[in-house]
Amino acid sequence: MPEFKKPTSEQEFEKNFSQIKPLMSDTEAYYESSRCLFCYDAPCVNACPTGIDIPLFIRQINSKNDSGAAKTIYESNFFGYACGKVCPTEVLCEGACVYNNSDVKPIEIGRLQSYATGKSIQSGKKYFKAGKPNGKKIAIIGAGPAGISCACELRILGFDVDIFEAKEKPSGLTVHGVAPYKITNKEALDEMKYLQDQFGFHITYQKPVLTKTDLDTLEGSYDAIFIGIGLGATSELKIKGEQLANVFGAVEFVDTLRMNHHKISVPGKVVVLGGGNTAMDAASETARMGAQVILAYRRSKEEMPAYDFEYDLAKSVGVKGVFNVTPEEIIGENGKVSGVRLKSTTDGNSYLEPCDWVIKATGQSKHSELLRLANVSMDEKGRIIVKENFQTSNKKYFAAGDAVSGGEEVVNAAANGKKAAKGIAAALS
Ligand code: SF4
Repeated sequence: MPEFKKPTSEQEFEKNFSQIKPLMSDTEAYYESSRCLFCYDAPCVNACPTGIDIPLFIRQINSKNDSGAAKTIYESNFFGYACGKVCPTEVLCEGACVYNNSDVKPIEIGRLQSYATGKSIQSGKKYFKAGKPNGKKIAIIGAGPAGISCACELRILGFDVDIFEAKEKPSGLTVHGVAPYKITNKEALDEMKYLQDQFGFHITYQKPVLTKTDLDTLEGSYDAIFIGIGLGATSELKIKGEQLANVFGAVEFVDTLRMNHHKISVPGKVVVLGGGNTAMDAASETARMGAQVILAYRRSKEEMPAYDFEYDLAKSVGVKGVFNVTPEEIIGENGKVSGVRLKSTTDGNSYLEPCDWVIKATGQSKHSELLRLANVSMDEKGRIIVKENFQTSNKKYFAAGDAVSGGEEVVNAAANGKKAAKGIAAALS
């Protein structure tokens, strides 16, 4: 039996998708910050890809200097609020906190981070301003964490910045790809507005850069171009039945759910194929939409690339994992999915798992065609190759984020987008 009732209103959706890291009250933040030992050479800082001075901002919260704390965070990470909520803190800062050594609950660094930055977003308090104009213009393709972070830093350095975004909203994965129980659309978009008000970069929405002509136009109008396009659509499995209605890609499903909430109808039984964090998100989300969910992975539970806490989260909402099985064929009736034939990778036996939907969380394609048009070198996996300063093989182009890494966390893209801005400034000076 599903653990959740199908949500039929926004209120019910919010209940099913209640935040796993809710905002702290003033009292909670005060007490939690009091527990911090303000370690010297703090391991939590070393574990943060953006290197936020965590003991400093926690001390600032503890002395009721919330603005000072927000400034400390934003100086290192322009996605300070979002990262506090969506980062896998269990394996980053909180996983490194010294309290783990004595089996004591680590400091809730993520929630403290969102507490401090959230106050500044709500009050509109500004900590940065654009630098003296240096007369140079940069085009950024993609308004995700890498592109927006790059834009913020470039503005501080005095560049004019225009961002071209294919979708209708900024922040990339933060609003389109992260599970709704990690951050709400409003929270993600409020931080984007806060940054745009402060830094003054310009974003053109629904403006995908696709063709050689598009690239030629940018090359003729800008001093450098930053590519922050992330990854593409879900890769094909190339199995029979994949084209049936009700077979979806996980990233496309998560995006649709983020944009439509209770308005999308998830049927009674769903099979999610894959063992990564995206598979866990898709499984948890369909379960919270009222479905009975099977998560099928081709290797053992121990070999799943997903973080343990993500699998635990999926299990906690009723998702059932089946391991060492690979999809052989998706079976349909009247053009729609009726089941998936799963084959054991240990004994070769196969069986039919009846279901109404199949969600593929088996990797994403790359935007290789555009990168070829831009004459940018890629590795054998289609990832952009960059030098230390984030410049590509084509000197006009710089890049960071998932299109370079092949798929990391929001915090990694934010960290590298900011560093790439410095690389661009150095190359153009
Ligand atoms: Fe505070 Fe833990 Fe970081 Fe030490 S490791 S500074 S206790 S958060």
